[in-house]
Amino acid sequence: MKTALITGVTGQDGSYLAELLLDKGYKVFGLRRRTSTPNYENVIRIKDKIHWLSGDLNDLASLIEAVRISNPDEVYNLAAQSFVAASWPQPIATAQMTALAVTNMLEAVRIVKPDARFYQASSSEMFGKVVETPQKETTPFYPRSPYGVAKVYGHWITVNYRESFNMFACSGILFNHESPRRGLEFVTRKVTDAVARIKLGVQNEIRMGNLDALRDWGFAGDYVKAMWLMLQQDEPDDFVISTGEMHSVRELLEVAFSYVNLNYKDYVVIDSQFVRPAEVELLLGDCTKAKETLGWKLDVDFKQLIHMMVDEDLKRVKSEMRY
Ligand code: GDP
Repeated sequence: MKTALITGVTGQDGSYLAELLLDKGYKVFGLRRRTSTPNYENVIRIKDKIHWLSGDLNDLASLIEAVRISNPDEVYNLAAQSFVAASWPQPIATAQMTALAVTNMLEAVRIVKPDARFYQASSSEMFGKVVETPQKETTPFYPRSPYGVAKVYGHWITVNYRESFNMFACSGILFNHESPRRGLEFVTRKVTDAVARIKLGVQNEIRMGNLDALRDWGFAGDYVKAMWLMLQQDEPDDFVISTGEMHSVRELLEVAFSYVNLNYKDYVVIDSQFVRPAEVELLLGDCTKAKETLGWKLDVDFKQLIHMMVDEDLKRVKSEMRY
């Protein structure tokens, strides 16, 4: 039986990854930070199967202890401050959780279990003001937010630990990936939640920022399979994971609203508070390397993803209305 340690296990990706690893027969340890109001919504079905460890990404001693207790074959570092827009008002907290914490995690592994395989959740936001399209593993980074800058640090420190200490450390450069478990502040979930509320008569508008932004949106459930595949290879490496398709925020609105027979134009209000100080205009990934080397493939396309999210939000909002 293999053992994995996941940081960020209660988040969207962590919960899908934990399910995948439990299905494969792994013993799964999840790191949790103490909070006065814990949120286990995403892991509710598997909460009792996860071995919980207390720790904080910025407390190296607690990470050393977590690695010592779990003695993992694989470590997946998914925890971070992950919302781009929040990184301008909280740039230092973002740097601590999204950048420096990666070194803490790598140090804990290097000190306690240097032969554990390590996955770092890197991000397409590192490409930012893109210098070529589509973006691939060799595309230079040009981050456009404190979040993007922090992720560039996390990426390079992972590469550096691989090259300095010969650790099996991989960086997965994942393009936007969504699901019914996505946080409500991200644009896909914000839209599908609003569509459900508007359809059910409990909301009458949605306030949005830049509708022209283009993103390469995939399904988180497909993307966690790529994380696992990266750690099963003979050699550690970095991979772009994407769909290779790009859609605008406007198209997202169109697909989500028309699914319930509404016209988004009747409900969208542009609000400058959702426009960012510096925008990433477009992201489009070329994941040829992952397809060829990992044999990774997508199961859910853009429309299926948005329809799935609207369906789940309709169910949830309806059940909330009963109370
Ligand atoms: P990101 O790519 O990690 O920043 O993911 P988001 O889902 O937060 O944003 C995707 C894109 O949607 C960005 O270019 C945003 O500027 C754009 N966008 C437009 N309106 C909104 C909004 O109301 N909320 C969010 N989160 N993004 C918006």
